Amino acid sequence: MTRTATLGIDLGGTRIKGTVLDADGAVLWRDDRAVEHEVSAQALAEAIGSFAAAAAAASPVRVAAAGIGVPGVVDPATGALVGTTPHVPAWSDFPVRAALAERLGLPVAADNDANCAALAELRMGAARGAATAVMITLGTGLGAALISGGALVRGWLGGAGELGHLPIGSGEVACRCGVPGCVEPELSGEGLARIARARGLPWRDAPEVFAAAAAGHRDAVAMVARMADRLAVVVAIAAQMLDPERMVIGGGVAAAGEALLGRLRPAVARYAPGPWSRGMRIEAAAMGKDAGAIGAAILGREAAAAP
Ligand SMILES: [Zn+2]
Repeated sequence: MTRTATLGIDLGGTRIKGTVLDADGAVLWRDDRAVEHEVSAQALAEAIGSFAAAAAAASPVRVAAAGIGVPGVVDPATGALVGTTPHVPAWSDFPVRAALAERLGLPVAADNDANCAALAELRMGAARGAATAVMITLGTGLGAALISGGALVRGWLGGAGELGHLPIGSGEVACRCGVPGCVEPELSGEGLARIARARGLPWRDAPEVFAAAAAGHRDAVAMVARMADRLAVVVAIAAQMLDPERMVIGGGVAAAGEALLGRLRPAVARYAPGPWSRGMRIEAAAMGKDAGAIGAAILGREAAAAP
C-alpha cells in the first residue's frame, strides 16, 4: 500500500498553522505565519490555499487529504461556516471545505478549530481513552468542544459546545459578538489585553498579565483571579451538561499552566459541587500549540477513510 500523508490547517485569530502528518501521526512538516483577516473572503481563501499548496509541495510523503479548523461554527453536512464569526469577519456563510478542496484538488474536511484541537487530544493527548470529555481552548477567543461516546458532538448545525459567548461577564469591554456582558474578553488573550488597556495597565497580552501576577502585582492578580472564576462558571456549565470524566484546558493562554488551573479547580468545586467534582479531572492539554493543526489533519484523514 502506498503511504500517504494528511495536511492539517488551523486558521486562528492572528496566525495560520499547518502540519503534515503521516499515517502513524508523526509530524512530517510544520509551519505557521501571520494571517490578515481584514481582507475579502476570496483573498483570505487564496492566502490559505497558497499556504496549503506550499505545505503539500514540501511534504516528503504525498499528501492525499486535508483538514481545516476555523474559529467559527461549521455545518458538519456542508463544511461551510454558519453565519458570521467575530474572528473571521470576511467569511459570512463561507463554504470553507469546498473552497479549499477546489484550490488543493484533494478531499478536504472542515470543522470548528476547538473541535479539531479536541480531536488531537482525544486521539493522541490528554483526552486519550476518555469516552466523555470536554475541551476548552483559550487563545485569541474561547473555544470549546464536547466528546461523548468517544466521538465529537457537533449538534445540528455544528454549534454544540460553543460556550465562548455566555452572558456571564462584566461587560467592561465589549465582545465583537454583540452579546451583552459576553464573558469571552475576560477569558481570552486578546480580551485580557483590551481590559488592561481600558484600565491603563501596561500588559499587552496574557503572558504579560500572568507574569505580572506571578510577581505579585495586585491588578494582575485580580485579573487572573477573575479569569479563573469566570472560566470555572463555564467549566461548571459544561460539566453539568455532559458529566465528563476529563476536562482539558488548552490554547495559548492555558500555557500559564498551574497558575491558572490551580485557581480553577477550587472554583469549579464551588460552582459544581455535585458528582462532577468527585471524579472529573481538570488537566492541561498535552498537544501543545499545534493541537489545532494536528487535529485538523486527523479530521481530514478520518473523513477521507470514512465510507
Ligand atoms: Zn462574545
